[in-house]
Amino acid sequence: MTKSTLIAFIVGAWALAVVPVAQAAPCLTVTITGSQGGPQVYEGVAGPGTLISYGDDADNCSAVRLQFDSGRGTLLRLSQLKVQSAQLNAIFFTHMHNDHSEGFIDLLMHRWFGFPTGPKIDVVCSDDAVSPFGFTLSCKRFVAHIADTLIESGEIAQRVTEDKRRPAAGPAALANLMTFQPKNEPQLVWSSGDVKVRAIRSTHIPGHASYRVDTPAGSVVIGGDAGNDTPAPPRVSSTSAQVEMLAKGADIIVHSTIHPVMAPDRGSGMRPDGFYRQSATDDLGRMAQRAGAKNLVLTHLMPTPGAPTFGVWKVPGGPLTEADYRKAAQDGGFTGNIVVATDLATLRLPAK
Ligand SMILES: [Zn+2]
Repeated sequence: MTKSTLIAFIVGAWALAVVPVAQAAPCLTVTITGSQGGPQVYEGVAGPGTLISYGDDADNCSAVRLQFDSGRGTLLRLSQLKVQSAQLNAIFFTHMHNDHSEGFIDLLMHRWFGFPTGPKIDVVCSDDAVSPFGFTLSCKRFVAHIADTLIESGEIAQRVTEDKRRPAAGPAALANLMTFQPKNEPQLVWSSGDVKVRAIRSTHIPGHASYRVDTPAGSVVIGGDAGNDTPAPPRVSSTSAQVEMLAKGADIIVHSTIHPVMAPDRGSGMRPDGFYRQSATDDLGRMAQRAGAKNLVLTHLMPTPGAPTFGVWKVPGGPLTEADYRKAAQDGGFTGNIVVATDLATLRLPAK
């Protein structure tokens, strides 16, 4: 090789290195892993949870996978998405109600059983929160004791004899607990590369928190079951002022909701505190509009569309439809895109 061809070769190689081969565009998907509201059951609808996957076109937006809450059936819904339990980088809990958390037992046991040498999963949730009634809501203890029944039954010990790579302490050994003290201002609670997750204090039960995920592809707020700090009317809204602050300019708000038809003065028979600690759909529409969000995903639907009752309570006027939820959010003034969630409903950023 002559000196000039060597230079040409080096320059050529340099040019190849800096000219992007295929500009990998960042992308994100939000998938509802369960849309059921509350511990009630209805026709196989999975318990609340949301999967956020971030990456680029080359990896189908899947370099980082974050699960928010894991209700009943989360593992099954993830399997429909071809996502393995071991492929989740982190799980975030909004609060310690069983409808939002009971699927984690399934998920972590599956990980321990099938992927015992894989990385730990980050478990992000509130510090212990003491209720005014004296009991403590504890994500820390929930995680530490996640598989106690399986330890007590002897199964964990038995399966360790089958595969010595499985941690003898059981599934909890594969959880990397990361707790935080919820505050009235957003705080960074988790990050990986370009993905940042912030949390804010919100009201539902003690220790409730809401999250915001920011990525170069866009931003998503997970409200959970947040409601207003004032527990009952008179108040300006049933929605959370902190969530509204967190949601400013967000591309997508994913939020639990209760339809206004279930209000205690409309004949559902529902406990007032059970109704008032959720965000009503019309108020959520109002909040999403004020926040300037582009998309509002209504999930944890109380009641599930099509259901004649919500648990033991009747749905006044008969089963609701998807259009009833959509209309309620629009009545609140929301002019953006509304998704009335079903299990596996998905949004992508940027839209394709
Ligand atoms: Zn709930």
